[in-house]
Amino acid sequence: MCLFCKIINKEIPSEIILEDDDFMAFHDINPKAPVHILAIPKSHVDSFSEVSSSMMADMTIFIQNVAKEMDIEKSGYRVITNIGDNGGQEVKHLHFHVLGGAKLAWTHLSDSNPKVFL
Ligand code: AMP
Repeated sequence: MCLFCKIINKEIPSEIILEDDDFMAFHDINPKAPVHILAIPKSHVDSFSEVSSSMMADMTIFIQNVAKEMDIEKSGYRVITNIGDNGGQEVKHLHFHVLGGAKLAWTHLSDSNPKVFL
């Protein structure tokens, strides 16, 4: 069973901020921003590459509710999902990072040299 499936089953503790029958959201253990929440489906999906359009539709509403719950809806936030090795995905269970609470940097993606990625 993967790490996030164990979190869903409460075998591993987490700081849950929102949960329904299909999705769960909890604090990232190693936050990269003042607000850093992980939103995941309860049924195991490896990554964004495998997610169905119907699950994505419901996931979108759930993520919007995470932003409301964390009071970052109006100030703005970022949603990221890493996919596979080059995408930097460490946990092979679909998850969306919801980041906010401060003005977030965007340096590496705005670098004028397209060969500089980090
Ligand atoms: P990724 O690199 O996109 O796969 O993101 C995995 C995320 O899971 C990282 O940001 C980790 O800090 C986070 N993480 C790993 N283990 C836990 C845990 N037990 N509870 C909460 N977040 C975790």
